[in-house]
Amino acid sequence: MPELRENPVTQSWVVIATERAKRPTDFVHPAAPRKGTANCPFCYGNEDKTPPEILAYRPQDTRPDTPGWRVRVVPNKFPALSDEGDLVATREGFFRGMTGYGVHEVVVESPEHDLTLPYQTPEQVYNVLSALKERFANLSRDRRLRYVQIFKNHGGVAGASLEHPHFQIIATPLIPAETETELKNAYDYYHEHGECLFCRMMGAELGEARRILRADDSFVTFNPYGSRFPFETWILPRHHNSSFGSISEKEVRDLALAVQDALGRLDEVLTDPPYNLILHTAPLDLEAREYYHWHIEVLPRLTIVAGFEWGTGFFINPTPPEDAARFLQEVKNPEE
Ligand SMILES: [Zn+2]
Ligand SMILES: [Zn+2]
Ligand SMILES: [Zn+2]
Repeated sequence: MPELRENPVTQSWVVIATERAKRPTDFVHPAAPRKGTANCPFCYGNEDKTPPEILAYRPQDTRPDTPGWRVRVVPNKFPALSDEGDLVATREGFFRGMTGYGVHEVVVESPEHDLTLPYQTPEQVYNVLSALKERFANLSRDRRLRYVQIFKNHGGVAGASLEHPHFQIIATPLIPAETETELKNAYDYYHEHGECLFCRMMGAELGEARRILRADDSFVTFNPYGSRFPFETWILPRHHNSSFGSISEKEVRDLALAVQDALGRLDEVLTDPPYNLILHTAPLDLEAREYYHWHIEVLPRLTIVAGFEWGTGFFINPTPPEDAARFLQEVKNPEE
């Protein structure tokens, strides 16, 4: 019999479709034809194919926009929002809008065209996360911006148009609806129960243990009870903190290991699945310290989101998260 489960963070319901339970091998995703390094704007020697770099970790004796960098941050050449012009409210009778002010950046993870995060050195992943944190801090100072969305699309199905591994940052002048929903639910929970919804959920997952993939001093990785997608994987900081922008150096180092571990397990079990990695954090101008808890959601794109999901907000997940966890737990030492 199928089961309905609530995702406490989004308060949406998920149909765990046990009748058609799927194993990792049931999810066939054809390997995308590789375009290769020719003309890749993120490979060494092609630095002039992107707008000038905003930030790069490179030896002091190399010039900007030349090879030698380890991580490189550039403006998106085709930005979703533009930082030219100003933020102005517009009105068309009944309808309201605003100019598309915002910032859209790309963080190139390394010069290696074919090396994804699980196969980088921990030091390199630390560099990538440090660059994300540095850009987050910088964008936080722009008073026109209210939210910084850090994310990663991997694989064509998940929306990646360039195969060279990269993160994206889009900073918006509004708090996105998805974040508003999480904030509201977390706020309500805090005021009703006097504790953080995420801390409580993490405690419950640790207590039940069967959906836990990894836990260390700093981070807990699990397939949440209310997983919307097969093999959905969350990483939560163990110490309560509302903003990614204020994590410690040790946490950045530990996060590198946690991210490598999670993506390494998914890669091993599902053979390079397409996925979206999403970092949810408190809005820039909001004091959400006590009730919100930043986190990472990795959403493998193995099923099609269709009419029922769009119409109802109910997701159908054909792989119970307990089953997903069993497969992912079997992967030994993905970091090695
Ligand atoms: Zn490349
Ligand atoms: Zn918390
Ligand atoms: Zn979230």
